[in-house]
Amino acid sequence: MDNRVEIFDTTLRDGLQVEGVSATVEDKLRIAEQLDYLGVQFIEGGWPGANPKDIEFFARAARELDLTTATFVAFGSTRRPRGKVDEDPTLQNLLDAGTSAVCIVAKSSQYHVTEALQTTLDEGAAMIADSVEFLRGHDRQVLVDMEHFFDGFKENPEFSFRALEAAVLKGATHVVLCDTNGGSLPHEVEEIVGQVNAHVGGDVTIGIHCHDDTGCAVANSMAAVRAGARHVQGTLNGLGERTGNANLTSIIPNLQLKQDYVCLPEGRMERLTIVSHRIAETLNRAVNPQAPYVGSSAFAHKAGLHVSAIVRAKDAYEHVSPESVGNTTRFVVSEMAGRATIQMKADDLGLQMDGAVVNQVIDDLKRLEHEGYHFEAADASLELLMRRAAGWAHEFFRIESMRVITDELSSSPFTTEATVKVWVGDERYVCTSEGNGPVNAIDRALRAAIQQAYPHLANIHLTDYKVRILDGGQATGAVTRVLLSATDGENDWTTIGVSPNIIEASWRALEESVVYGLLHAPAA
Ligand SMILES: [Zn+2]
Repeated sequence: MDNRVEIFDTTLRDGLQVEGVSATVEDKLRIAEQLDYLGVQFIEGGWPGANPKDIEFFARAARELDLTTATFVAFGSTRRPRGKVDEDPTLQNLLDAGTSAVCIVAKSSQYHVTEALQTTLDEGAAMIADSVEFLRGHDRQVLVDMEHFFDGFKENPEFSFRALEAAVLKGATHVVLCDTNGGSLPHEVEEIVGQVNAHVGGDVTIGIHCHDDTGCAVANSMAAVRAGARHVQGTLNGLGERTGNANLTSIIPNLQLKQDYVCLPEGRMERLTIVSHRIAETLNRAVNPQAPYVGSSAFAHKAGLHVSAIVRAKDAYEHVSPESVGNTTRFVVSEMAGRATIQMKADDLGLQMDGAVVNQVIDDLKRLEHEGYHFEAADASLELLMRRAAGWAHEFFRIESMRVITDELSSSPFTTEATVKVWVGDERYVCTSEGNGPVNAIDRALRAAIQQAYPHLANIHLTDYKVRILDGGQATGAVTRVLLSATDGENDWTTIGVSPNIIEASWRALEESVVYGLLHAPAA
């Protein structure tokens, strides 16, 4: 059997169903470009004509997207019950979208035809047949998403087979079996897809579309492929309503690196991590650090005995090479670190360190962690500390002073203002900015001051700000630890600041964050 498995990404429809996620037309175009850069076969653009934003998106996609590997697909549904195909607004919108391929959702479960649509099974099958025929007649490639397929099949397999046949006989190229409620388990999916494959597998490509309500969406998708599916629908990072859609960032490497399937063109698997992070960034949803393959902790090793063993035989502790998916091994360092760990981290960063410097770093780590620093969680601050120990000092800017004022006036809400005086080379800049709080105000003031010298700052923004009170026994006199995460769309990093004064702790973390971002700015 053919070992090619097509990847059909639904991030632009299902992925945008997540609570709190929204995307502008511009964002959607960038996401489509990233998916094409990764090399998926199909990019679903959503429902054309659903609202003015979607109409604009399809119009601009047709003009502006220059896809090299992917086919752009408009999504819609079959005609209405007892309606006519040539008077159906949804089918008309699909044609108006002007894509060469369309995907329509069809009711393939008896229960949904008789209860949700309130129509007969004959009409249910006719809706599918007529719609596929109509779209084929307008020269479109037609994929049919068989909604509630697994639940329907368990109840009445004859009707589910009828729905499939209706699509296949009229020329659909794909029937995609959907676990719409996400309740199926891998053994059920494998069994049912096997039956479908035996029945229509010779005439059509069988697809799978899973939701993660049992935590099995990835496993279910793989079970379907084992049973003969050769088309997998899902979203990058598993974005989707409720518990999410099948996560393509796991499925693709599982199929291609662990089995003999081919999902992406040659040389594209290495782009998985960067594309996953860029899309997350565009949608303002950080990638889960523990996400398989692409998370920042996916190949992180904590110090200890373990680490010196990893140096000798890295592959003994990693299930695949991180480079194969564009990720990297990361050594997590804390005060527990021994010389081997520090030395390895230094090699990783390309730093020359003799024994005295390594000892210095270990002493610094012990002292700072005693004060409340926690470098395991703040890789970027650790890197800067090690660079400084090796004799480096950054020359991006010098802070002369920083001041924050917060006022409460009875007539208006709290206002916060920060003033930063800073030198870049021989130039002195004094900038004042307002913010919705002290950290926001100092961030804006520092940026305003040095932005002109470092335009790359415009690409850097803060993604997370965590405050933790250490030694809570001292109440307001306790020490504050601030962890600040930032991104430039390619890299994510975290810095740390510790002080009895929350503003000072935030300021330390912020300054380090900016320095790290500038140090790692892509060469202009
Ligand atoms: Zn779905």
